[in-house]
Amino acid sequence: MLSVVIPAFNEQENIPAAAEKLSEILSPVTDFELIFVDDGSRDNTWNIIKELSEKDKSVKGLHFSRNFGKEGAIFAGLKAASGDCVAVIDCDLQHPPQLLPDMLSAWKNGAEVVEAVKSSRGKEGIIYKLFAKSFYRMMKNSSNINLDGASDYKLMDRKVVDALNDMPERLTFFRALSCWVGFKTERIEFDVAPRNAGKTKWSFRKLFKYALSSITSFTNVPMQIITVSGILFFIFAIILGVQTIVNFCMGTAADGFSTVILLILIVGSILMLGIGIIGYYLSKIYEEIKCRPRYIVSERAGDLSGQDNKR
Ligand code: UDP
Ligand code: MG
Repeated sequence: MLSVVIPAFNEQENIPAAAEKLSEILSPVTDFELIFVDDGSRDNTWNIIKELSEKDKSVKGLHFSRNFGKEGAIFAGLKAASGDCVAVIDCDLQHPPQLLPDMLSAWKNGAEVVEAVKSSRGKEGIIYKLFAKSFYRMMKNSSNINLDGASDYKLMDRKVVDALNDMPERLTFFRALSCWVGFKTERIEFDVAPRNAGKTKWSFRKLFKYALSSITSFTNVPMQIITVSGILFFIFAIILGVQTIVNFCMGTAADGFSTVILLILIVGSILMLGIGIIGYYLSKIYEEIKCRPRYIVSERAGDLSGQDNKR
C-alpha cells in the first residue's frame, strides 16, 4: 500500500483537484491512502478535507492547531502514514502526480528512496534562483549533501520512513534529511508545473529563515569560518604589531589615526558577526532542548492507522 502525504496551507481551491487527480492516477496501479495535513489553514481547507474523508475512505486528514510550517506537516504525515511506501507531494499539483506510477515501479525494482528531481525550476524570479543556487552550493560544500534540483517530492520505503520518524531533532530539513539517512536512491527528473490555483505560501522572509535554519541544522561551517578569520586576523595583528613596535623604537609612532579607526571598525564588526553566528547556533540548541513538539494536531479525519501522531 502507498501512503501519499500532502501538506496543505490555505489551499482550499487545490484540495479537491489534488484528491481527484491522485485517485485517478493511483487507483489503477495500487492501494493507497491520501493523508492531507492541514498546516493550520485559515481558510476552508480543513472543512473540505473533512468532507472529502467522509465521502472517500482513502482520504484522511490531520489538522494542526496553528501554522507550524511545511516541515512539521511533512513529518506529521510520515508519522501517520501506514503504507509500505510513502510519497510526499505538494498540494498545488506543481509536482506532477503522473510521475507516481514510475516512482512506484522504481521502488518495486529495489530503490528505497525515489527522488523526483527538478530538471527545470519552473517560473521563478532571478533573485529567487540566485538565492536557491547559493544556498544549495553552501549545503553541498559544507555538508556534502547534493540538493541540486532537489524537491520535497519523494517516494520512500517503510524502512526510510521509520528512520526519519526515529529522528529526535525538532528543527528538521526533510529535503536533506531524506538524503542524509542514506539508502538506495534513484532519481527521476520532472518539470515543475505552474501552480494549479492560489499563490505561493512562502514569503521571502519565511524562505530566508528556512534556509538559515537548514544550513545551521546541517553544518557547523559558519562557526569554523569565525575561527579561520580569527586566525587570519591574528597573523595580520602580529605583522602590524611588529611594525608598530619598530616605529615606536625609531621614534616615528605619532601619526596613524586612520589605521586605528579602521582597525576598531574591522575588529568590532568581525566580533559582532562572530557573536551573532554563535548566538544563532545557541538559539537553535535552546529550541532543541526545550523538547517542544514539532507540531500539535488538533483534529483528525478518516481512519488513520499509522503510529501515534504526538510528535
Ligand atoms: N505549505 C505548508 N505550510 C506552509 C507553507 C506551505 O504546508 O507554511 C505547503 C503548501 O500548501 C504546498 C507546499 O507546502 O502544498 C508547497 O508550498 P508552495 O506551493 O506555496 O511553495 P512553492 O511551490 O511556491 O515553493
Ligand atoms: Mg508550489
